[in-house]
Amino acid sequence: MATKSLQKRESDLANSNRQLDILSNGIFKNGELPTFKNKISETGHFPLKAKKLEILQINVGYMCNQVCDHCHVDAGPDRKEIMTRDTMRECLEVIKNTGAHTLDLTGGAPEMNPDFRWFVEEAAKAGIKDFIVRSNLTIIRANKKYYDLPEFFKKHNVHVVSSMPHWTRGKTDKQRGDGVFDKSIRALQDLNAIGYGIPGSDLRLDLVYNPSGAFLPGDQVAMEKDFKKALKDDFDIQFHNLFAITNLPIARFLDFLIASENYEDYMYSLVEAYNPTAVENVMCTNTLSISWDGYLFDCDFNQMLNLPVNSKSKHISEYNEELLEGRNIVISQHCYGCTAGAGSSCQGVVA
Ligand code: SF4
Ligand code: SF4
Repeated sequence: MATKSLQKRESDLANSNRQLDILSNGIFKNGELPTFKNKISETGHFPLKAKKLEILQINVGYMCNQVCDHCHVDAGPDRKEIMTRDTMRECLEVIKNTGAHTLDLTGGAPEMNPDFRWFVEEAAKAGIKDFIVRSNLTIIRANKKYYDLPEFFKKHNVHVVSSMPHWTRGKTDKQRGDGVFDKSIRALQDLNAIGYGIPGSDLRLDLVYNPSGAFLPGDQVAMEKDFKKALKDDFDIQFHNLFAITNLPIARFLDFLIASENYEDYMYSLVEAYNPTAVENVMCTNTLSISWDGYLFDCDFNQMLNLPVNSKSKHISEYNEELLEGRNIVISQHCYGCTAGAGSSCQGVVA
């Protein structure tokens, strides 16, 4: 279990160029596997183009109370990149004027940004239809100052989306750290107690599953059923939907793949599972990701690989929805993670 980010460990892989080198060379350079560009060209999907913006995803900082093994953000307590209130103000201008129906706040642990509550209060006034906060659950029980987060979320009608890799303590703690399971269960009970996740309730509570090793997620519908039964039977916990997400080969998951000598096999399994129907709905076609310092990316993964949008509008201060619509999406081999099997996005499967 990692205790420090790749950046703090001064790992080679903390450098996004090093990650892109790995993803472009070896089995992709020597032709053993087709590049993502060649693969989507075969099915007539190149270039991938952005359609009308529907989801604005804002990363308010890479600081987190956890250091999960698979984290694509390389987040942790040692990361200091945090969105300032000035950049939040620029985001608010865009939130008020965008046609997007969903606002999605992510991190790190977004709640650790000192201006998080101010930002949520201001953003909620814009009346966006679906206001998501990605909460890792343990933050709610990490410190007394966070205990009232469920009430705060309820007050602003926030849709809570939380990671929960398994319904057993062993598998959850292995991926996310000792004690994570018990804290997550307690946080879910707190959320249920005020109405989150209860069938028929407008207070949405969804869980995110991602595999703990070098394999693809199973069927989302079947897993949701298993999760619901186990969490209800064992802890009387309820939630609305389960999103099954594929781990993309970047940051700490790439580090894990290389260290465990699974990198090539994993890339083979992603390429073999390529699904042309999924490529039509990959999330970058209707989403825009904003980094803690206000730069624009096609998705959170491209943000972590430092691959900015292919548009004249590159920063939230010069945001122009018309210019951004129709842009060519920036791709590399990590994109195979979004098109394998039933596909994968921040909202689960796409095909
Ligand atoms: S996966 Fe989520 S909870 Fe875990 S370290 Fe990364 S941002 Fe934090
Ligand atoms: S990784 Fe990002 S750019 Fe690539 S297909 Fe997935 S969402 Fe699109």
